[in-house]
Amino acid sequence: MSDNNLHNYPDRDGFFGEYGGQFIPEHLIKIMNDIRDSYFEIRRRKDFQEELEKLNKYYVGRPSPIYHAEKLSAKYGGAQIYLKREDLNHTGAHKINHCLGEALLAKFMGKKKVIAETGAGQHGVALATACALVGIKCEIHMGVIDIEKEHPNVVKMKVLGATVVPVTRGTQTLKDAVDSAFEVLLEDPENNFYAIGSVVGPHPFPMMVRDFQSIVGKEARVQFKEMTGGLPDYVLACVGGGSNAIGLFSGFLNDKEVKLIGVEPAGYGLHTEKHAATMTKGTKGMIHGFKCYLLQDEKGNPLPVHSVASGLDYPGVGPQHCMLKDIERAEYVSATDKECLDMFMELSRLEGIIPALESSHAIAYAVKLAATLPKDKKLLVNLSGRGDKDVDYVASVLGVK
Ligand SMILES: *Cc1c(COP(=O)(O)O)cnc(C)c1O
Repeated sequence: MSDNNLHNYPDRDGFFGEYGGQFIPEHLIKIMNDIRDSYFEIRRRKDFQEELEKLNKYYVGRPSPIYHAEKLSAKYGGAQIYLKREDLNHTGAHKINHCLGEALLAKFMGKKKVIAETGAGQHGVALATACALVGIKCEIHMGVIDIEKEHPNVVKMKVLGATVVPVTRGTQTLKDAVDSAFEVLLEDPENNFYAIGSVVGPHPFPMMVRDFQSIVGKEARVQFKEMTGGLPDYVLACVGGGSNAIGLFSGFLNDKEVKLIGVEPAGYGLHTEKHAATMTKGTKGMIHGFKCYLLQDEKGNPLPVHSVASGLDYPGVGPQHCMLKDIERAEYVSATDKECLDMFMELSRLEGIIPALESSHAIAYAVKLAATLPKDKKLLVNLSGRGDKDVDYVASVLGVK
């Protein structure tokens, strides 16, 4: 790695080291490069920057606060745990950060319809919201298993005016929803815009979604200094595709003393086949038009994956994370379904904050790590979303009366 400034990625062709790129047919490369060029154009424009800034402040409610979880920290007796409250954003998660950007870009490009996949339904709701605001049609593809699990989000999308397309093929979850949405994009690429829901897919999406999410890290760095007089010792976030993690990491990439930790879903355990711990157990491969670590069979087909958190249920992972792992700038660990569910209840009852099942993975690992550290160390965890969408499911699994 010749370049010490980690902000100088991806390269011209969309590579983070050897990961990322555009492994897609010729005609799709043109579509992606149109999006890239338009993105570079609006990014430079003052009116776009001002529009996005205004919406972030008055519509999303940014900056989201950082909260010192003192009771949680005290209970585990070690380092201090701070939460970046992305759950307090309009629509209840970090996803609105990139959805607003994508919807504005689609409108600027003169597109007629925005298409996307969704897992937990959070991307779907955030995108349907952004499309309602911007005034553009929205079509969301969703696996039927997720539709059942995340019923309230499905209703919200419909209320917001989006069309929800149930996906019944394959594992009927996130990966198949991506395939289904991609097919519709190809039917009319001139008028359709595919808004990818994480830092995955072909260039420019891992870069573009990262840029829109980097507001989380930029804010957090300033806020943390104001609150504590210094930087956190550890910065943690859950990793599905990796957008909330890279958003927060972006604020600290060049602060070598800050350790970056991504927490993956270990499902029933890493010794089973029911997990989605791509960084930990995957090998280099190709999915949805880009190169990354991948949970795959001998033929290179993505394996079925499992997590109690629908939003983490993806066999690939963002290319920038793959690079950060290889150069050892970030470390990737995991938390099981059980640890996640326990933390869901723990944070709810200790702090009065119901976390998303996705975010609970990061907090579960943070608490274990904190217990091994002295009291003056500080951990900043991305609370990527609120758990309202998950309460019925958790209550039924844990038998909450
Ligand atoms: C979608 C989602 C995630 C996972 O996506 P990333 O791209 O890995 O951030 C995490 N947390 C919440 C609340 C989500 O909705």
